[in-house]
Amino acid sequence: MIQTEKFYVFLDNSTSPFYVVKNSSEILDRAGFRHLSFEEPWSLQKGGSYYIKLYDTALFAFTVGKSVSEDMILRIAAAHTDFPSFRIKPNPEMKEKGYIRLNTESYGGMVLSSWFDRPLSISGKVSLRSEQLFKPKEVLIDIKKPLMVIPNLAIHLNREVNKGVEINKQKDVLPILGMADEDIHNYFKNHLAKHLDVSAEDILDYDLFIYNLDKACTVGVRDEFICAPRLDDLSSVYALLQGIISQVNDKDIHMICLFDNEEIGNRTKQGSASLFTTMLLEKIFQSLGKNRMELFEVLHRSFILSVDVAQAYHPNYGAKFDPTNTAELNKGIAIKIDTAQRYAYDSGAVAILQQLCEDNNIPYQKFVNRSDATAGGTMGPVISTQLPARALDIGVPLLAMHSAMETMGAKDLDSIIRLMEAFFSAER
Ligand SMILES: [Zn+2]
Repeated sequence: MIQTEKFYVFLDNSTSPFYVVKNSSEILDRAGFRHLSFEEPWSLQKGGSYYIKLYDTALFAFTVGKSVSEDMILRIAAAHTDFPSFRIKPNPEMKEKGYIRLNTESYGGMVLSSWFDRPLSISGKVSLRSEQLFKPKEVLIDIKKPLMVIPNLAIHLNREVNKGVEINKQKDVLPILGMADEDIHNYFKNHLAKHLDVSAEDILDYDLFIYNLDKACTVGVRDEFICAPRLDDLSSVYALLQGIISQVNDKDIHMICLFDNEEIGNRTKQGSASLFTTMLLEKIFQSLGKNRMELFEVLHRSFILSVDVAQAYHPNYGAKFDPTNTAELNKGIAIKIDTAQRYAYDSGAVAILQQLCEDNNIPYQKFVNRSDATAGGTMGPVISTQLPARALDIGVPLLAMHSAMETMGAKDLDSIIRLMEAFFSAER
């Protein structure tokens, strides 16, 4: 299967952060990475490849170079597994004239209007009663079947609809799940129980997201574009995985961090603000017979790439972009620059990336926001406060960021994959 098709399969099946991590771990399993548990002592081998999952929505994979030595560096790349969507509240059933709707809240900054009139399904985790109090039984669920829809209001009932309509998150975007005349208490929980083949009383709680069933596809007269849900940031997640499973430089330690919760500010136990990355690096160093100060010395000369999508120039809204530093589709990796450090960068870090791109014939472009606009948040500055190594925010340009369907350049997929392969393999 060619790379684009494999990417589409990954996207179509990664319907919540839980499935992003599940599908990522399967790619790593196939590449011979060993799954580790943080709670056990490790005896890592030079030349070994390993991964660890964190609460099922974050994942870290690392390789120890065959001839790793005193002068090693850490090559770390990060991306995020989460994306904006609706999350189902507890006690979600709402009945109105026979329609059953689900009460939801929005996770992350959604383009709400893009969610109307699309078949929707549910993906996530259900927590069940367990034999052991502190180890809840948790099962993943992806219903896959079209289950719901959020219908628009007909233009006849709102003639002003094309002049801009305010969309209220609590009342205008509740999905319709079905019709019923009976009492609907526990209607949703009963449906989940049936789907999972468990008793409804055993379902204690859940982490369930709504997703649109649109499939990834190639668009454009010359197949210039990829349109798909969740390109932010699964395009980066996929590229990081391809990078770490390919040839790596024998002298260094390489790691990818797939963090959760970027869309809600990173400050969770499995987000990029977590202490976990430092704990993990300490454990890796300790099991290689090195101490904490040796880690800090290595970190000081290391390099971190925070890989998240960038705003692509939109021809219908040109005035929204900087006059001289825009990122265009199919013109390569965007290096994100922001004087307020909302993107992690310094000119040395930019130079490292430019040289890496030029040595490997990978196109790149510099992206800066308009001086009268502020940058959206991403992981780089947050990671930098936890791991103060040289760091840089980069990513592929994207149109319609945070819409239910996003658009990227088809050539940029190849560029970001080749960049990640080069990042982990390049000679120092
Ligand atoms: Zn993102």
